[in-house]
Amino acid sequence: MLEDDYTDVLNKSMAGASFDPTTLAERLQVPRSIVKTFLEGDFCEELSSRVCALLGLNSPCLSRLALGLTPPAILLPKGLRRQTTPFPVSGYTEMTVNTYSFALAGQHNASILIDATGSFQEAVCVEQGESGDVPRANLFLTHTHADHVADFDRWAPFLTSAHVSRHEPFAYCAEIEDGDYFEFGPLRVQAIATPGHSVGGMTYLLLGAETPVAFVGDAIF
Ligand SMILES: [Zn+2]
Repeated sequence: MLEDDYTDVLNKSMAGASFDPTTLAERLQVPRSIVKTFLEGDFCEELSSRVCALLGLNSPCLSRLALGLTPPAILLPKGLRRQTTPFPVSGYTEMTVNTYSFALAGQHNASILIDATGSFQEAVCVEQGESGDVPRANLFLTHTHADHVADFDRWAPFLTSAHVSRHEPFAYCAEIEDGDYFEFGPLRVQAIATPGHSVGGMTYLLLGAETPVAFVGDAIF
């Protein structure tokens, strides 16, 4: 689920490639003023395709994003749940935050949670009050911005383990680094450092579901 608009995608790509509007204009041999208005939201298909070629981006996909065309629906593999909640910080009412959870059928005590915002019961697929025995789960934080840890304290009593990058120590989470991996029965969670949006940004690659899934946090959003 992508929340970035096309200007966000371009500005992040330019930052990653160490381009600013001036160098981009020089490379494309286009007046800087035209590049600047394009980067500020005045979309131009022809210029977009040239920028995409330079930055290694998928031009048709960027055009669809810019033109507001609905992207293809994403099919989540069986066992993966997404919980979308309002941004928990005032002043950002148009934004939402996603948390994800994964559990194999019959193994809810080995649930894997990605980030900690929203209802724990919903994340681990339990109706509130259904049972006094709430399943326990293993938490992986993509990063520690307020929106991704907003409900950590409420979730903490039900966590078997919690993990975060060693570059962003948080609460009692175990500090991990690029390349660390964790196995839960047939599931494997692999940590891949993706700093940028935050210093300790971590992507988690989940293996063992119907398809591999990468949880990237706000590295892309
Ligand atoms: Zn963030």
